[in-house]
Amino acid sequence: MPEPRNLDGNHESPACDCDVLIVGGGPGGSTLATLLARRGWRVTLLDKATHPRFHIGESLLPANMPIFEEIGALEKLRALGRLKLGADFPRDDGSYYTFRFDRALGGTPPYSFQVQRGEMDQMLFEHAREHGVDAREQVKVVRVEFDARDVTAQIETGGSTSGLRARYLVDASGRDTFLGKQLKLVERNDQHQSAALFAHYRDVSYNPDDPGGNIISVNRFAHGWAWFIPLPGGVTSVGCVCKPGYLKTRQGAGNEDFMARTLALVPGAAVRMAHATRVSPVRFTGNYSYACRRMAGPRWILIGDAWAFLDPVFSSGVFLAMYTARKACDVVDGALREPARETALQRRYDKHLRRGYARFAWFIYRFNSPVMKRLFAQPRNVMQVEQGVISMLAGDVFDNRLVLSKLRIFKTIYAITSVMNLRQWVADRLDRRRQNRMRVMAE
Ligand SMILES: Cc1cc2nc3c(=O)[nH]c(=O)nc-3n(C[C@H](O)[C@H](O)[C@H](O)COP(=O)(O)OP(=O)(O)OC[C@H]3O[C@@H](n4cnc5c(N)ncnc54)[C@H](O)[C@@H]3O)c2cc1C
Repeated sequence: MPEPRNLDGNHESPACDCDVLIVGGGPGGSTLATLLARRGWRVTLLDKATHPRFHIGESLLPANMPIFEEIGALEKLRALGRLKLGADFPRDDGSYYTFRFDRALGGTPPYSFQVQRGEMDQMLFEHAREHGVDAREQVKVVRVEFDARDVTAQIETGGSTSGLRARYLVDASGRDTFLGKQLKLVERNDQHQSAALFAHYRDVSYNPDDPGGNIISVNRFAHGWAWFIPLPGGVTSVGCVCKPGYLKTRQGAGNEDFMARTLALVPGAAVRMAHATRVSPVRFTGNYSYACRRMAGPRWILIGDAWAFLDPVFSSGVFLAMYTARKACDVVDGALREPARETALQRRYDKHLRRGYARFAWFIYRFNSPVMKRLFAQPRNVMQVEQGVISMLAGDVFDNRLVLSKLRIFKTIYAITSVMNLRQWVADRLDRRRQNRMRVMAE
C-alpha cells in the first residue's frame, strides 16, 4: 500500500485507513480507483465477489475507448476483446441496416470491442492494483456511517466483520445500489420496465456481409427485442429483452424453455441459430430502469449503475460507468483538496450527467415505437442527421455541439412523422402505458 500523503496541506486524517473507499470493483469502480491513485490518493477498492465473475454487459461503445486509453488499459482491452465496427437494426422484411461507426460525426474512434465481462473486469481490477490501489476481493461493505469528518464502513470478509475508515466514499456497487438503498434514494422508473433472458452459444451465424462478426445485431420482435453479440473465441451472446405483458405468459416455464420459445418469435433468429449450441446456463434479470434521487452528498458520490440504469438497448452501461468514474475523479480530487468546493463540484457533476443520460433515454423510451422503427429502418442522411444518430450510438451524447444539433433535428423529424401517423402513435402510447401498469415478475 502506498504511504499516506498530505496533499496541499489539507487535513490528513491519520486515523483513516485510506483517503477514498470505493465499494464495487466493476468497470466504474476500478476505473475511478486507477485515476485517483494516479493523482496520489490512497484508494481502497472492495468487491464482494472474486474476479473473474460472470457479468452481463458485453458490448462496448466507441466513446469508451478514449477512457481505456486514458487509464492505460486500451492495449490490454484490445488483447482480450473482439473488434466491433457497428450495429445492425434488421427490418421487418428480413433485410437489415448497418450503422457503421466510421460514419460518426465528431471524434469518436471508428471501432469498439465486445468482451467476456469476467475477463475485462478482472483486467481493470488488476490494472487498478498495479497503480497502487489496495484492491481486495470477497470483501462486502454492509453499512456506512458518516461523522463530521470521515466515513466508517462496516465490512464483512470470510465470516468476520470489521471497520474501515476513509475520508471519502464512492458507491460503485452496480445494480446492488448499496448506498442508494441505505439512504433510500432509489426510484424505480415506472415508465420503462422490462426484463432479459440471455445465454452464450457457439456456432451462431453472422450476417453474410459481416463474415467476421464485427457487428452487434438488435432485432425487434412483437414483445421486445433481441441481441446477438459476437464475442471472442467463437462465442455469441444472445439475449431477449421482453415487455412485462409478455413475461406474464411465462407461467412457470424454466429459463431454457422460455428462452427457446422467445427466440422462436424473433424474426431472423431461426436462421442465425440453426447450428447453434448453448454453452452457458440461461440467465434471467429484471432490467427495471431506476435512478437514485441524488448523485452525491457530503463525502459521498455515486457512479455507474449505482446511480442509475437506463436500458441495455444501446449498450451504453459500461461506457456510462467509466464516464461517470472519470467525471467523479475531478469531484473527489477537488473535494479532498479544497472541501469548500465540494458542493459546487457535485452540482456540476449532477447537471452534466443528467443531461447526457436524458439524451440516451429519449431514444430508448421510443425505441420500440412504430415511428422510431421506421426512422431506423430507412435512415436518410438529410443534414447529416443519420450520422448524428450514429454518433449517439457511439456514445457521443455529452459535449459535441455538432452531434447535439443533429439529434435536435432528428427529434423534430420524429415529431413531424408522429403527427403524420397520429393513429399509430396514439396506439403505441396506449400500449406502452398498459405495459407499464403490469407488474413484472420478480427477478
Ligand atoms: C440485460 C442487460 C444487458 C446489458 N448489456 C450491456 C451491453 O451490451 N453493453 C454495456 O455497456 N452495458 C450493458 N449492460 C449494462 C452493464 O451491465 C452495466 O451498466 C455495467 O456493468 C455497470 O458497471 P458498474 O461498474 O457501475 O457496476 P458493475 O459492473 O455491476 O460492478 C459492481 C460491482 O460491485 C460489487 N458489489 C456490489 N455490492 C457490493 C458491496 N456491498 N460490497 C462490495 N462489492 C459490491 C459487485 O460484485 C460488482 O463486481 C447490460 C445490462 C443488462 C441488465
